[in-house]
Amino acid sequence: MHRDTAILHAGYRDRESEGPFLYGPQFSSTYTAPGDPARHSLTYGRFQNPTWSAWEEALGVLEGGHAVAFASGMAAVAAVFGTTLKPGDAVVLPSDSYYTTRLLASSWLGAIGVDVRLAPTRDNAQAKALDGARLVWVETPTNPQLDVCSIRGLVDAARAKGVLVAVDNTTATAYLQQPLALGATYVVASDTKALTGHSDLVLGHVATADAERAAALRAWRTQHGSIPGPMEVWLAHRSLATLPLRLSQQCRSAQVLAEFLSSRSDVDAVFYPGVPSHPAHAIALEQMRGGFGPVVSFDLGTRERAERFLKSLAFVREATSFGGVHSTAERRARWGGDAIGEGFIRFSVGCEHTQDLMDDVARALVQRASPV
Ligand code: PLP
Repeated sequence: MHRDTAILHAGYRDRESEGPFLYGPQFSSTYTAPGDPARHSLTYGRFQNPTWSAWEEALGVLEGGHAVAFASGMAAVAAVFGTTLKPGDAVVLPSDSYYTTRLLASSWLGAIGVDVRLAPTRDNAQAKALDGARLVWVETPTNPQLDVCSIRGLVDAARAKGVLVAVDNTTATAYLQQPLALGATYVVASDTKALTGHSDLVLGHVATADAERAAALRAWRTQHGSIPGPMEVWLAHRSLATLPLRLSQQCRSAQVLAEFLSSRSDVDAVFYPGVPSHPAHAIALEQMRGGFGPVVSFDLGTRERAERFLKSLAFVREATSFGGVHSTAERRARWGGDAIGEGFIRFSVGCEHTQDLMDDVARALVQRASPV
């Protein structure tokens, strides 16, 4: 069966079962469960929920492993940190990873005595910092600079030194990139982004091929209470069916946009793994399939030029986050925490018609030269 068809049916009830294809969200804090709790698969709302189970089954199909759903991408990140690291261990993080992941590592892990080492994503530089480490955290393409490293290369280097590998796959999603198949111990994602794609929920998940590691993640979720809401999970599952359609359109337009921006002399730099000028284009071609993701970053040089561009867009909204069906853009330096210029734009390509999107961007680029 083609992967797109498998995703469409993933986690749905089988065709022999009468009733809905997918049950609606189950809102239960407790379940009728007399006597020995071990006899029941459903007991208490923080322990189990049938809506999560269907979603996790679908995620398992997508990732090729056991999936555990969390309340947010950061809850998923924290669960991997918390179940793998203890005082005295060392973790290697990308110096250009999502800012909050670095912040969590320095504030929490640093405070409990974990050695937090940073190295750039570019040129697999993290491989040089692995000696004696317990975990290497990989993010590719990175948010927001879209740098790329070789997952297989880092997995091989980590395995040789007995280091676990976690890949934050948020920008690509499992549709475009499969870290577990490349040997990663864990794949982590913010499902707030392209995986669900409708800008209406916050969720995350972790997947692993190892059943014991999945059980440890589940126990962490139960004890820390980082559980997802059934309504969000049901919305996510409903949205998953269109993932191949959405992402194919988004990646097609993102590629056109990146090529267009690369051709313009008034754009200082373009960051997109799909263009040949990207320093790791060859690696991206090798480990991604079906496109290079919905995010295109570029630099307009100054804060003033970037703000004027954002103001001049007709339907692209100025908003943070990415991966949704509606295009958004923001001047990323407004948040701080990343080594980027004041004119750096992170543009998330939605499902609008490609020509409409290009017209909007082209008009805004020209207008930014004159007063708005
Ligand atoms: N990882 C990456 C790469 C992200 O971009 C984000 C959010 O932007 C997260 C993790 C955290 O996800 P969430 O906002 O769902 O907690």
